Amino acid sequence: MTLLDGKKLAEEIKLEIKAEVDQMLASGKRAPHLAAVLVGQNPASKAYVSTKIKFCEDVGYGSTLITEDENVTEERLLSIIDDLNQNDAIDGYIVQLPLPRHIDEERINLAIRPEKDVDGFHPMNFGKMAQGMEAFLPATPYGILEMLRRYQIPTEGKHCVVLGRSNIVGGPMSILMSRKGYPGNCTVTLTHSKTRDIGGELRRADIIIAAIGIPGYVKADMIKEGAVVIDVGINRVQDASKKSGFGLTGDVDFAQIKDKCSFISPVPGGVGPMTVTALMLNTLKAAKKIH
Ligand code: NAD
Repeated sequence: MTLLDGKKLAEEIKLEIKAEVDQMLASGKRAPHLAAVLVGQNPASKAYVSTKIKFCEDVGYGSTLITEDENVTEERLLSIIDDLNQNDAIDGYIVQLPLPRHIDEERINLAIRPEKDVDGFHPMNFGKMAQGMEAFLPATPYGILEMLRRYQIPTEGKHCVVLGRSNIVGGPMSILMSRKGYPGNCTVTLTHSKTRDIGGELRRADIIIAAIGIPGYVKADMIKEGAVVIDVGINRVQDASKKSGFGLTGDVDFAQIKDKCSFISPVPGGVGPMTVTALMLNTLKAAKKIH
């Protein structure tokens, strides 16, 4: 079994991005600039945003953090988005999800200028992705593609089973794995909460991409010998051995299935660091287009 070490890959890609930024600066261009909008005090959201800002610092990007109170109005958020859309010093930005209940996430997403949508959530980017056109790919699926590419995992003609159909992970992942090219050219089955026999579907899979948010859901008797398993899940579970009282675990039962797989991504240290890295690659792309 080979561990898909997202943390190590992210460090490698970080150096590559930094070298590109140095080159941009040497040729008289400015560094890429990412902005993040953070609403409220959700601890996970705060942690994600600070990881993104730290990554910007590490590679030499400029960054702007806009924080708003939990009670911010939708109109105020839309006006912030409008400013970000118009600000030429900002190449790309993200609005950290989830947003408070009184804010219409769809309306916010639609207001983001597609050319600055480095999270790749806008329907314009999603539609282009689905048609195989040049687009900002959603960060988590893009990070997974980069992981498959860098570990040179064969995908052509393979049967890929995606678990979960969200707009940010499972849905786009199923499209990307079936697209022409590498990584891709898979025969894809997209499974979800209404699928009748998930175990049966998973047992036929050469590649499993699990994104449902249920700790340890995929067990050893659900996978075939030699399967490639990408675990996207990030679930908080009680862990008395940790100072915080909780630990993070994925959607697959790592201890149980690791010896049955050919490749497996751990949680933490697998898809998570690749997601942030993909966001940074999208920001670099946005900056290059503007320059
Ligand atoms: P979501 O909650 O939006 O959607 C969950 C999906 O799982 C739905 O499509 C649902 O149909 C399916 N599902 C739920 N219960 C099921 C069941 N019993 N059997 C089969 N399918 C079932 O999920 P999401 O936003 O895609 O997130 C999924 C997981 O991935 C979460 O743990 C989340 O924290 C994690 N995540 C990780 C990253 C990362 O960077 N590593 C990024 C995004 C999400």
